[in-house]
Amino acid sequence: MLTETDVPALNSLFEKSHPLDVVKWAYAEYGEDLVMSSSFGADSAVLLHMATRVYPNIRIIMVDTGYLFPETWQFMEELRKRLNLNVWVYRTRQDPIAYLQSKGEKDPQYREDIACCCATNQNEPFDRAMRDLAPKGWLRGIRRRQAETRANRQFIEYSPRYRCHAISPLLNWTGREIHQYLKENDLPYHPLRDKGYLSIGCNPLSCTRPISAGEDERAGRWSGSSKIECGINLTSLDSSQL
Ligand code: SF4
Repeated sequence: MLTETDVPALNSLFEKSHPLDVVKWAYAEYGEDLVMSSSFGADSAVLLHMATRVYPNIRIIMVDTGYLFPETWQFMEELRKRLNLNVWVYRTRQDPIAYLQSKGEKDPQYREDIACCCATNQNEPFDRAMRDLAPKGWLRGIRRRQAETRANRQFIEYSPRYRCHAISPLLNWTGREIHQYLKENDLPYHPLRDKGYLSIGCNPLSCTRPISAGEDERAGRWSGSSKIECGINLTSLDSSQL
């Protein structure tokens, strides 16, 4: 059983490991107490494919904020059928239209209060999922090159917020390696990727927009604000970071 003293050595080992070996280690360590999360975003097929090669019935948490693109549902359904995925959708408790009205959000394409919306519609369902499923290990698809908030992440990190270890097998992969894996395994990208969306979250333009050549991969997320993360990957839930 993993102890905190094992973590630094494993993290150092995983710097040079193939992501699939990290997934295999996670399954050997946590067995059925391993879950994964997926936004069914631009290149989510990579980790979904790796995880289900190792543990076909892994529980996959998807959050329905009420504001996802129809293309995301289409992509989830395509992958669900193709990889026989065991998807657990956790939905916001809010009615999407009623939420906007109650918060005085006048334009469905723009959020005045993104912190409140992400806390209510993204983080609450994910926190609920992690409480319900109570995993000991959680696979997630973050990569260091995606954002400055991810640059110093480690392969295994204890999350006091979820009381489990977060494991990030793809941490060191480049966009090129992601592309190669998708190609080698004949896996699809999210349908919006061809339209310039390299990171895909919710559908308001203030939350996800296509990016231009030369822009950072996540530049289209909460564009024009200092926000970089929806919050579920933060180890502690500090509302000032949402
Ligand atoms: S990404 Fe935008 S629409 Fe989605 S929960 Fe956060 S603020 Fe709300």
